[in-house]
Amino acid sequence: QDTTFQVTARVVPDLRAILLCFIDVTHLEQAGQMRRDFVANVSHELRTPLTALMGFIETLRGPAREDPAARDRFLTIMEGEAGRMNRLVGDLLSLSRVEGDERVRPRDLVNLTDILSSVLRTLKPLADEAGMTFEPEFGPAPVELIGDADQLMQVFTNLVENAIKYAASGKRLSVRITQTDRDPALRAPGVRVQIIDYGPGIDAIHLPRLTERFYRADSHRSRALGGTGLGLAIVKHIINRHRGRLRVESELGQGSQFTVVLPIQSGPAVPTTES
Ligand code: ADP
Repeated sequence: QDTTFQVTARVVPDLRAILLCFIDVTHLEQAGQMRRDFVANVSHELRTPLTALMGFIETLRGPAREDPAARDRFLTIMEGEAGRMNRLVGDLLSLSRVEGDERVRPRDLVNLTDILSSVLRTLKPLADEAGMTFEPEFGPAPVELIGDADQLMQVFTNLVENAIKYAASGKRLSVRITQTDRDPALRAPGVRVQIIDYGPGIDAIHLPRLTERFYRADSHRSRALGGTGLGLAIVKHIINRHRGRLRVESELGQGSQFTVVLPIQSGPAVPTTES
């Protein structure tokens, strides 16, 4: 890997010497490049629907002016493009919020059973429409940990929504919760949530990059289904904030398994009593 140095030279007349100072600025360079890539990606993602909207406005003003059927069709498409922009802006705001929160330890007592039941209840109509059945493998007993309920809701909503979008062909989705006394990944007591689908799977070459912003394994399909490419990046930041881990395993033609491991206690800053 390349290393970038910033070099400064100073003449030290007393010593009849030149002092050369090398500062490793590789990190700054990389951060700058990432920021530039991000802005370029956002601009590109926003420009695509915007160009479509402008094109349709022109058509509505011109050739489609006197054609009510065409007008309706174009307005429906425009609504879809505006919706895409709205989702993108919403996801960008979520991402910036969760990135900003990352250093602040969550401190609420949350019940994962409730959170997962609520996510499955909310997404059931979408799953029904796609022909997918949820198979929750957990009972009603509360599974509690210290976390941020809204953010954990977002994690599991994104993962289950992805399964409905990309893996409905597998027909079913297993959702499993297990408690572990000492999880090997965390080296602490934890809770493991597994979301297992039987869809097309994800090629191994994509797996290491899946949580990068705007990275899509199947770009065409993601865009066609209204994906922003930010869902798993948001998931990763929220799990980091909880000091948890995300593991993705997948086999082409077999399906994918997203495992979230969360520590019961997210960090030392958690107060035991609140006055
Ligand atoms: P998107 O908005 O495109 O869905 P995500 O960050 O949520 O973005 O997901 C990144 C990519 O991972 C998706 O574009 C899709 O290609 C792939 N993916 C995510 N979940 C699944 C799944 N359950 N099965 C197959 N592919 C998936």
